[in-house]
Amino acid sequence: MEILITNDDGIYAPGIRALVDAARPLGTVTVIAPDRNWSACGHQKSLGRPLRADPVALFDGIEAYAIDGGPSDCTAMAGLGFLKKKIDLVLSGINPSANVSRDTTYSGTVNAALEATIWDMKGIAFSIDAGSVKPDAVDFSAAQQVVRHTVETFLSNELPPFTVLNVNIPYFPGEAIKGYKVTRSGMRVYRNELDIRIDPFGRPYHWFGGLPPTGDTESGTDCGEIFRGYVSITPVHLDLTAYETMAALEKWNWD
Ligand code: MN
Repeated sequence: MEILITNDDGIYAPGIRALVDAARPLGTVTVIAPDRNWSACGHQKSLGRPLRADPVALFDGIEAYAIDGGPSDCTAMAGLGFLKKKIDLVLSGINPSANVSRDTTYSGTVNAALEATIWDMKGIAFSIDAGSVKPDAVDFSAAQQVVRHTVETFLSNELPPFTVLNVNIPYFPGEAIKGYKVTRSGMRVYRNELDIRIDPFGRPYHWFGGLPPTGDTESGTDCGEIFRGYVSITPVHLDLTAYETMAALEKWNWD
């Protein structure tokens, strides 16, 4: 099996190294990842400018490229033949903070996996709920076991087209993880505040500051189940149509 690994934190992030090491026994691993952090870039696509791909020797014995584009560019490069081989499965992550609920539309990690389905590849996004820990201090060892188990389970089953798995892992020691739950998207609560400062030239600049997001703790939701110590497995579809609203919308007076 040919596995592509990418992420949105950049090729130098500790999480991608953890994912590479977890995936090594599962197939032939190749890495294409951004040369810098693109977190929260959504389903980005580079148009109207060239993309450079530099080979890097970061992972022992593994073909790897740093791209001056975003996460879904990396997936698209592989899907469009850059590697001169067919990739079967794209693994994205491991993101050092959760990608739950409405995070999925912001997330470069999740959208790099969704991009795979456009180019006839399968995709899984992995995130660990360690947002309160500095990214270079996160212990990924329990998450690596989750990656291996998830990929093995994934490969003995079949997902519908344009569907990926969004996997969120609680930041618990391995033995404290309670198991796996199939979840729906929950309710993220964003607590950003606009932080306005003044630059040395007297001009204001703006940060999305404030506190980290929280989420609901309901049973069956992605944020609720990782809160309780379960690995959350959410199927995510590329089609954003609100089907349940279509019938009501057709009754509006459109003429
Ligand atoms: Mn990220």
